[in-house]
Amino acid sequence: MFSKLLGNEEVKESLKRLLTSGRLPGSLLFTGEEGIGKKLFALEVAKALVCRNRVGVEACDQCPACKRIDASTFPPFGKLDDDKERMIWSEHADVAMVRPYKQIIRVTPMRELEREANFRPFEGAARVFIVEDAEYMNDQAANALLKTLEEPPATSHLILTTPNPTALLATIRSRCQIIRFAPLAAETIEEFLVKEKKVPESDAPLLARTSRGSIGRALNVNIDDYRKRRQSMITVLKALTLTGDRVQLLHSSEELAAAKDRADYEQTLDVLESLIRDAWALGLGGPAQAIVNKDALSDLQNIANELPSARAAAWLKEIEELRGALEVNLNRKIASDGLMMKLAAA
Ligand SMILES: [Zn+2]
Repeated sequence: MFSKLLGNEEVKESLKRLLTSGRLPGSLLFTGEEGIGKKLFALEVAKALVCRNRVGVEACDQCPACKRIDASTFPPFGKLDDDKERMIWSEHADVAMVRPYKQIIRVTPMRELEREANFRPFEGAARVFIVEDAEYMNDQAANALLKTLEEPPATSHLILTTPNPTALLATIRSRCQIIRFAPLAAETIEEFLVKEKKVPESDAPLLARTSRGSIGRALNVNIDDYRKRRQSMITVLKALTLTGDRVQLLHSSEELAAAKDRADYEQTLDVLESLIRDAWALGLGGPAQAIVNKDALSDLQNIANELPSARAAAWLKEIEELRGALEVNLNRKIASDGLMMKLAAA
């Protein structure tokens, strides 16, 4: 079972050890970036606990219990207003999940969890409750969870997941055993994209490298859109280092400012930053293999030849300052013009 999950070998080993010892803690906290498999691992643990025909400590993947967990889709919230007040059940009567609705986990589903955690298992040897993105619990929900954590029945297991454990109450963290997930290697993601998701080999390396170790992120990137933004930002860097073309910079500034919202605007800034980091690394003699935008190598090499380290560092600082200014709803046209002028002057 764990063998078909990607990467995180240390996590697999510690979960197997806990299952083998028969001392899986009543509550686990899975931490690590978005989209690196925390929920999939949580479901595998659930399967291992409810499987009727375990192979060692692992789920068999064949019995009806395993199949029902695998078939569970945890449907998205429906239109009914009270949907958000409920726990979401899997196809198995002992496995359920609570997750945020519009970035809040409210108290009602946590009270349902508290109630259900007190029942004996219906079918399996244990009950498993997953709280996805637990950092979104409001105060009341967190307090309800604390009550559950105080006297957990031995047959009920809680698995909380979060990319941001410091956003949880310290009293919650201290009652959970923390399992840390690491970002996946770009090569692992690349192989997965090609083999499992049939992503073309021309796109997989770039997707894997822009994903910062997260399969979820790699699957969400629109590669054509990324390349379009990148072409426009390469034009900016060429104007800054090679041609000194100020008219082009003003034109690029207009393009940048035409972003449909702040998230869209920041995505282009992300691309610009990644290009600057790549050119900086190449300028320092770093290997071409290690850069994110390997498929734009010749442009980046030309830019790198004209880019002193200090200037690359100053550019990244300007972009970070602009991001700070965006927090206060700055006019994007003025901000973009200002950025281009500062990059030219740096
Ligand atoms: Zn099974």
